[in-house]
Amino acid sequence: MADSHTLDKKHPASMLPETITPDVRFLQQVEAAGPFQASACYQCRKCTNGCPVSFAMDLYPDEVIRLVIVGLPQTVLHSQTIWVCAACETCTTRCPNDVKIAELMDCLKETAVQKGIPCPHPQILDLHNIFLKDLKRWGRVCETTFIPEYLLRSGMLRRMWQAHTLGAEIKLGWRMGRKGRFALLPKTIKGKKEVRNILGRPEKR
Ligand code: SF4
Ligand code: SF4
Repeated sequence: MADSHTLDKKHPASMLPETITPDVRFLQQVEAAGPFQASACYQCRKCTNGCPVSFAMDLYPDEVIRLVIVGLPQTVLHSQTIWVCAACETCTTRCPNDVKIAELMDCLKETAVQKGIPCPHPQILDLHNIFLKDLKRWGRVCETTFIPEYLLRSGMLRRMWQAHTLGAEIKLGWRMGRKGRFALLPKTIKGKKEVRNILGRPEKR
């Protein structure tokens, strides 16, 4: 039976050299931040076949692992996949070799940011940054600060305004707030300091 994952994907082949000389240094560097046990991968593709967003990826999860193992950081760190990954952990759960694929994706995102490689979807980077900012600020994500800031920074507010859907979204948010689906005022948690310590330097308030 044909494997649907090999039929219609857009592969970033332009980044791949014609011949590959394996270089273990990238794997070692990545594993030092883990361990993720990437080298245990035997390419069964259970991760890819269970991934709910593989349709939007330019490299499939098993390919990311393979490229990390052979040492092609440029291809991996410039891929859309590391940003498209929804961190759902389905791959990690399905892997028979206990490869920490979802966690590895996070590590690759961090590496790309540290190396100044532009995120192909800036709104996803905005989402991560605002999420972390809220955690540092309140110890948890607070919808009343998180959502407005994300809408503003990502340009979604402008797009909703242009599409004349902003009014409906505000009404929906108001109804949800009234039904207690989220707090209208920011709430903090007891262990806020500990969360800040885990995440590093606290945000100024
Ligand atoms: S499920 Fe695990 S062993 Fe199989 S391809 Fe994915 S990472 Fe490799
Ligand atoms: S964690 Fe990411 S790569 Fe793994 S199954 Fe979920 S979306 Fe796919």
